[in-house]
Amino acid sequence: MKQDWKPPRKQIGKPSRSLPVRVWGLLLILVALMITFYWGPHSPQTIAPDPPACHSSSTNQRQASQNDGEAQPPLPPTPPAEPEHIFTREIVPGDNLSAIFARLEISQVALCQIMAADESLLALDILRPGNVLTFTLDEKTRQLVRMELFVDAGKRVIYHRIDETSFDYEEILIPGEWRQQVLSGEIHGSFYNSAISSGLSDQETVTITDTFKEQLNFTRDIQAGDQFQVVRSRQFVDGQLTGQSRVEGARIIRRHRLHSAFLFEDGNYYNEKGESLARSFLRYPFKSRPRVSSHFSRARRHPVTRRMSPHNGVDFSMPVGTPILAMGDGRVSRVENHPFAGRYLEIRHGGRFATRYLHLHRVLVKPGQSVRRGQHIALSGNTGRSTGPHLHFELHINERPVNPLTAEIPTLVSIPKNKRKQFNQRVAELLAVMEQPENKIALR
Ligand SMILES: [Zn+2]
Repeated sequence: MKQDWKPPRKQIGKPSRSLPVRVWGLLLILVALMITFYWGPHSPQTIAPDPPACHSSSTNQRQASQNDGEAQPPLPPTPPAEPEHIFTREIVPGDNLSAIFARLEISQVALCQIMAADESLLALDILRPGNVLTFTLDEKTRQLVRMELFVDAGKRVIYHRIDETSFDYEEILIPGEWRQQVLSGEIHGSFYNSAISSGLSDQETVTITDTFKEQLNFTRDIQAGDQFQVVRSRQFVDGQLTGQSRVEGARIIRRHRLHSAFLFEDGNYYNEKGESLARSFLRYPFKSRPRVSSHFSRARRHPVTRRMSPHNGVDFSMPVGTPILAMGDGRVSRVENHPFAGRYLEIRHGGRFATRYLHLHRVLVKPGQSVRRGQHIALSGNTGRSTGPHLHFELHINERPVNPLTAEIPTLVSIPKNKRKQFNQRVAELLAVMEQPENKIALR
């Protein structure tokens, strides 16, 4: 029976290094000599929530405990100050939710109930080392009543127990303060490396290359000595960097050409003339015109649980195997299996747009892959908690879900007349920052 059970420890990103035999030998010697061993830093990675087997809970829970010691990095010890019914766990590389629940002797049933609540948010799919979970148990019954996920100083999610069978969630976003900064440099070797050495993050650099890719081939067109300037804003809460950042404006200064991109309030990038840099989006991620079986709603009655919960997307009824197309150019940011959302896919589309496609039968792309508008990315399905074959489709602008049927998406080639004045003002502000004496770049 024990052999049948496979500990759920699927990981995204780099798998944790397993130590070769001689290293273990060395380790033993070191221990014998009572030399302190420092467990070195791990590269950042995400951990997967499990997915737990949400039907047969008690067995899984017991077996998960039996498998505990196996290749799992130790969790930090509980600080003694914690009351006996509150537990805090910081996520470490190699962790997964199922094992954390098992270690704390919290039932896998409760985990499934939390995963069900998280279906509309999908926050537990992207846990990273450094995220912190706080569990609160009922002092008498020892039942889990609250779980808090601390993502960063600007973002927390709280899952509250509503009754015996379910949880709901509350997302707490602290706006904090966005600090602007100009980063610039000369390009030597690749743009990517030059951008990283100027202090830009990998994500920011990718946003810039994606934004300019329609007009600029970064391998062919860039010459040594070409320059770049980027206005970047980072979020701080109580003086702490949250990890949230955005590229507000960027210029690539080539020998005979200047390329500019300015982020506007609609989440899209435009050049100084107000022309969209992103190719327009498709309104629908498929060719056919399927029936809408459930609309976007801030509060709707869930068809399976009958509870009121937000419906952060639109459901299109369609047979399993219907081709799903990328709504716009972008990069695959997640491919996951969720006990309730099913097999799903998330694409980030430069600027401030993201799309999610849930309950898929099959995904045809990989995380990190760049996709083109209209590219065949998946086959629709009926996976996860679903009442019938359909596609649940979400559009996020500036990290918030919006109604994909009515939202303003980059279908426009340029800024409309009534927004022109506002846009010009925005461009003037960003250019003024770039042109400040300390940031100015000598144009050749
Ligand atoms: Zn749906």
